Amino acid sequence: MFITGVIGYPLKTTYSPLLHNSAFKSLSLKGYYFPLCIPERDFEMIIKTIKKVNFTGFNITNPYKTKILRYLDGFSPVVKKIGSANTVLIKRQKLFGGNTDIYGFDISLKEHNINLNGKKILLIGAGGVARAIAYVIGQKVPESFFIANRTKEKALLLAKKYNANVIDMSELSDVVKQFDIVINATSIDIHNKIIPHLKCNSVYYDTNYHFDLPQNENLKVINGLKMLIIQAAYSFSIWTKKAPPVNIMKRAIKGVKID
Ligand code: NAP
Repeated sequence: MFITGVIGYPLKTTYSPLLHNSAFKSLSLKGYYFPLCIPERDFEMIIKTIKKVNFTGFNITNPYKTKILRYLDGFSPVVKKIGSANTVLIKRQKLFGGNTDIYGFDISLKEHNINLNGKKILLIGAGGVARAIAYVIGQKVPESFFIANRTKEKALLLAKKYNANVIDMSELSDVVKQFDIVINATSIDIHNKIIPHLKCNSVYYDTNYHFDLPQNENLKVINGLKMLIIQAAYSFSIWTKKAPPVNIMKRAIKGVKID
C-alpha cells in the first residue's frame, strides 16, 4: 500500500490528488494521495509523526520547500545545490528529499520543442520554482542568462550561483524584447507587462497554469500544466519505483477546467 500526499499551507486548488490517485488506479496499485493543509505551528509535529506512521512519502509545497531540509536524513545533490525539495521518500522512518520540478521544467521544454542552448534567457522570480529552473538553465549553454525578482537581493544570490546577470523588475517592459525565452516563475500574472513587448518567435513560459494567457501566432506561449504533470509523475516514480506515468496523468487532467 502506497500512502502519499502533499503538505503545504494554504493548499490552493491542487491537481496533485487527481493526478496521483488516477495513476494508482490505472496501474492497479493500492495507494492513495492526500492533500495535507498544515499550518506553520503544526509543521514540525506532522513531519515527526508522518515518518513513524505508514506513509511512503509526500510532496512538499509552499511555504515548506526549503524548511523541510532541516528535517531530512538525506537528500539528492540537486536538493543540496538548489536548497529546496518537493518530494520526500520515507524509508525505515528516515526522510530522503528530492526535487522533481527540475524534470518537470526540463522535459516540458523538450515536449514543446524548446532548446535553451544558444538562447538569450530571462528568468523572472527567485523563489522555490525559480531555483529549480535556474538549476536546469545552469546545465545548458545559453547565450545569456538574466534574472529579475521583486526582492533584488534574492535575484543577486541566485544569479551568483549560475553566473547569471540581474536586471531590475522596473526595466522589464523595456528589456524583454532582447530575449528569446522569458520565464515567469513568480506567483503573479505578469503576462500583460511582457507579452506585448516580446519579439517575434520568442517564447513566454509561465510556471503557473491558472492564468488566462493569450495565444499569439508570432510567439510560443506556454503555461505550467505540462511541468506540473511531469514533476508529479516523477514523484510518483520515486515512491512506487514504476516508470513515471506521464501519459496516465495527462489523460487524467484532460477535461478538467483549469480556471
Ligand atoms: P515562492 O517560493 O513563494 O516564490 C514566489 C516568487 O514570486 C518570488 O520570486 C516572489 O518574489 C514573487 N512574487 C510573489 N508575489 C509577488 C508580487 N506581488 N510582485 C512581484 N513578485 C512577486 O513560490 P514558488 O514555489 O517559486 O512558486 C511560484 C509559482 O510557480 C507559484 O504560483 C506556483 O503555483 C508555480 N509553480 C508551478 C509548478 C509547476 O509544476 N507548474 C511548480 C512549482 C511552482 P519575492 O522574492 O520578492 O518575494
